Amino acid sequence: MSERYDCIIIGAGPAGLAAALYTARDRFKTLVLEKLLPGGQISNTNRIENYPGFEQIDGPGLIEKMQNQAVNFGAEMKTSCEVTRLERLQNSDITIYCDQEKYTARAVIMALGSDYRKLGVPGEDEFRSAGAGVSYCGTCDAPFFKGKQVLAVGGGNTAVEETLHLTKFADKVTLIHRRDELRATRVLTEELLQKTNEPNSNLIIKYSTVATAIEGEGKVQSVRLKNVKTGQEENYPCDGVFIFIGMVPNTGFLKGFVQLTDNGFIKCDCAYLRTNVPGVFVAGDCRIGAAMQLATAVGDGVTAAMMLKQYFRDPGWWNEPVSDILQPGGW
Ligand SMILES: Cc1cc2nc3c(=O)[nH]c(=O)nc-3n(C[C@H](O)[C@H](O)[C@H](O)COP(=O)(O)OP(=O)(O)OC[C@H]3O[C@@H](n4cnc5c(N)ncnc54)[C@H](O)[C@@H]3O)c2cc1C
Repeated sequence: MSERYDCIIIGAGPAGLAAALYTARDRFKTLVLEKLLPGGQISNTNRIENYPGFEQIDGPGLIEKMQNQAVNFGAEMKTSCEVTRLERLQNSDITIYCDQEKYTARAVIMALGSDYRKLGVPGEDEFRSAGAGVSYCGTCDAPFFKGKQVLAVGGGNTAVEETLHLTKFADKVTLIHRRDELRATRVLTEELLQKTNEPNSNLIIKYSTVATAIEGEGKVQSVRLKNVKTGQEENYPCDGVFIFIGMVPNTGFLKGFVQLTDNGFIKCDCAYLRTNVPGVFVAGDCRIGAAMQLATAVGDGVTAAMMLKQYFRDPGWWNEPVSDILQPGGW
């Protein structure tokens, strides 16, 4: 028999740790399963400036506080434990399988996170931190490039929005896109083009262009660009590279267990974070519609933990529609 928990949380990033704090503090027997070490994506940065309550804090420092807080309220933590399969039993408990062990819970919160889609060019991993010059989040890191020259990569909505954000900080922003047309919505594309047409605009767009290598000593100093139509190459001097080519959620093992979008994000109702499997909640960057921010991941963890109580009180609640009061105009 595997040990039975009230709540098992998969993933010890910000969403998972916030959920664990709440469920453990509510005296629910809580276990967090983490495939690596606690922390998730935010451990990769040493400068966070947009987490309310901390003017500046480093990722590992914040995670240490979050982990201690959850553990002090009784959450158990198991690291180096990758979850590979879930199964819902007849009695509505859920069995969670890791490489060696299995566990059972009355409810599960999946806080698996996502990874930024990589360009896969030389130099990308070497300089992967805002300090060294490669970033995947303009909202997070644009202020560190005030007065500098940066390259942005991508052509979808996020790329356009984030590039516009970069222009508020950097002296010069060049957006490269591999095709000869952007994929973003018309309204965003028009806004971007309008920005490039402003007198003394600090924004340039280069179409049909890809980055083939990121170069520098200790930090980014230039990027090799190639025009895919002409084959012409150039060395583009810059202080930073922002890569906006999508996210890959860590949900591959869930296919067939829970409903996913075509891109692999977990489908849920965005008010209560219920998936299509009763007793299985989702929180943070791996869910459909996530804002991909630290504060929102934490907020999701809290929401899922609060809603879990509702499920324990009344399992039939799972199939109830989101309350009318949450519809626009319903308040
Ligand atoms: C370099 C960098 C800088 C950033 N800076 C900022 C910033 O300044 N401000 C901001 O708001 N946001 C920032 N972000 C974004 C922020 O880190 C994420 O939005 C946030 O971490 C999402 O939290 P999460 O808990 O949903 O997912 P994650 O942080 O991705 O955590 C998911 C956890 O689940 C674990 N996991 C995955 N699959 C399994 C499995 N099968 N079994 C067990 N465990 C599993 C992973 O190992 C990971 O620990 C930054 C991201 C990066 C990469």
